[in-house]
Amino acid sequence: MTNDCLFCRIVAGEIPATVVHETDRTLAFRDIGPKAPVHILVIPKAHHRDVAELATADPALAAEVLRTCAVVAEAEGLPERGYRVLFNVGEHGGQEVFHVHAHILGGRPLGPMVA
Ligand code: IMP
Repeated sequence: MTNDCLFCRIVAGEIPATVVHETDRTLAFRDIGPKAPVHILVIPKAHHRDVAELATADPALAAEVLRTCAVVAEAEGLPERGYRVLFNVGEHGGQEVFHVHAHILGGRPLGPMVA
């Protein structure tokens, strides 16, 4: 836990979030500013800056985050029509919260990726 990290504070219960799924090591909650009808963030509870750092430091936890994405997408009814999972990394990647998080987006056609 780092005191100045927003998502660590959500894990600690200090900031409210709409939690949709939780495991011992991961948490999934609805994005506060949804960009699609379904927009959920999946995080490891442990603090890692971004997906590259997570994958290097704890590959099993990185895999668990991806597994949680699949479980959450299934629970939201997304697999039939499809959905998107993405990680923003760093300034040019548009990352604003430096606690690694997967975005799950779905519920409408998302179209091709745009930069
Ligand atoms: P990033 O740009 O990939 O770092 O995404 C950060 C995401 O966190 C954005 O989509 C924000 O809307 C979302 N966000 C910021 N604060 C909160 C919060 O308190 N609860 C849920 N989502 C948040």
